[in-house]
Amino acid sequence: MFDRVLIANRGEIAVRIIRACQEMGIRTVAVYSEADAQALHTTLADEAVLIGPPAPGQSYLRAHTIIQAAVERGCQAIHPGYGFLSENADFAAAVRRAGLVFIGPTPEAMAAMGSKTAARAAMAAAGVPMVPGFQESTADADLLAAADTLGFPLLVKAAAGGGGKGMRIVPRPQDLADALQSARREAHNAFGDDRIYLEKYLTAPRHVEFQVLGDHHGQVIHLFERECSVQRRHQKIIEETPSPCLTPALRANMAAAAVQAARAVNYTNAGTIEFLVDQERNFYFLEMNTRLQVEHPITEAVTGVDLVKAQLRVAAGEPLPFSQAQISQRGHAIECRIYAEDPANQFLPSIGRILTAVEPVGPGVRVDAGISTGSQVMLHYDPMLAKLIVWDEDRAEALGKMAWALEHYVILGVATNIPFLLAVIRHPVFQAGEATTHFVEEHFSDWQPAADPLPDEALIAAALSDFLEGQALAGAPAPTGDPFDPYNPWRQADHFRLGHGR
Ligand code: ADP
Repeated sequence: MFDRVLIANRGEIAVRIIRACQEMGIRTVAVYSEADAQALHTTLADEAVLIGPPAPGQSYLRAHTIIQAAVERGCQAIHPGYGFLSENADFAAAVRRAGLVFIGPTPEAMAAMGSKTAARAAMAAAGVPMVPGFQESTADADLLAAADTLGFPLLVKAAAGGGGKGMRIVPRPQDLADALQSARREAHNAFGDDRIYLEKYLTAPRHVEFQVLGDHHGQVIHLFERECSVQRRHQKIIEETPSPCLTPALRANMAAAAVQAARAVNYTNAGTIEFLVDQERNFYFLEMNTRLQVEHPITEAVTGVDLVKAQLRVAAGEPLPFSQAQISQRGHAIECRIYAEDPANQFLPSIGRILTAVEPVGPGVRVDAGISTGSQVMLHYDPMLAKLIVWDEDRAEALGKMAWALEHYVILGVATNIPFLLAVIRHPVFQAGEATTHFVEEHFSDWQPAADPLPDEALIAAALSDFLEGQALAGAPAPTGDPFDPYNPWRQADHFRLGHGR
């Protein structure tokens, strides 16, 4: 096993990986930008290396600087987390050339799955079911001709796609020419690659993905599914497992297809095969994510497998410590992604200092957070603050526990989507397990939070704690004693007023 690992990421996923390394007795080296000098991942790692200014292009995406830091600090391996460099096959290859281990699949497997069209071709050859489409040519004339056979509505997609970019729904033939042009332009700007292709548009699909794990000894297994149909702007916000839409037979077929897909590209380490399931319960390969997913904790909750530890073991050349027969699903897990965004203001990102963060605690409740009281939330980075994960014996219990946990998660200082998540969890369609990928736009397009539910006491407490911390930072004598003791000199009106006015 490695004795020193560099984590090429920030936020909750860096914290998550540091935790797994610490449990295994591996020393951790964090990298951080100038904006993250006080960030949680920077302070929790055993060592931390400054890699540049706040903009990701000048810090977390600087492959050469990161690899150099790993070599200089005597690391044997780099964990890329998700996002940033995690799906960059050139980075994985450069890590290998530097004599280090990339904790993820081989650059060859990443490249095979990196382009959506190349992945579709590989999956078709492996006999994995696929959304009907046309990708034999990218010339507009050929695409226009193919569209007629495919039928409408259809979807224009970018070969290099990701994050919903370069994707256009085309309801009618007369809209196609414009859609091709604008998708091409967007793909060129986002990926420097304007190749596009067509897919049949499924009208009310569910997004169901399978976790796979492969080792370097020929073993590939799956760890069941995650349902991720609750999406906003094609981005997942709530995930659960088991999926309420799978029958045991469908689950078995999809799991077999996922393992087949991974084997077809000699996949090693953790990966995810994404599928769409239509109303007739047909399933279709969508894409493969060649990295750890944001929503991996729900799989951990129902299978009992620590996926990050498994990644470290596989990367170190160990065989998987369990076989397919030893993996089963127990109970039900749900994850909510907590974002710093304002539900009352079109979900615009909300930035500022976290005055207070109090996480819900209880049996079957897990919080993977990248922030704590005092953290700064900045525009440079993804606005996801934390993930709230619950586990219980069945779906009904898990839903009740998630509602409880959301109600008891206090984050003051920035606006969050917690009230929105609560409304989604309580919605009858979600409660019935019937949400498709259109659920949010169908039921929440005009949603507004109820009037500010914060009690005055919470705001006063947050303002007081902000003020007291400011005093401490300014070098003033630290306030002492009980803040609610009327005879405590610190509890004077002036101090309250000062705190509020800052
Ligand atoms: P990206 O890689 O840009 O995120 P994906 O191919 O993973 O794009 O698709 C993201 C989401 O878009 C899916 O989860 C689904 O909601 C929707 N989607 C993608 N392809 C189709 C399709 N053929 N029919 C209907 N919805 C689709």
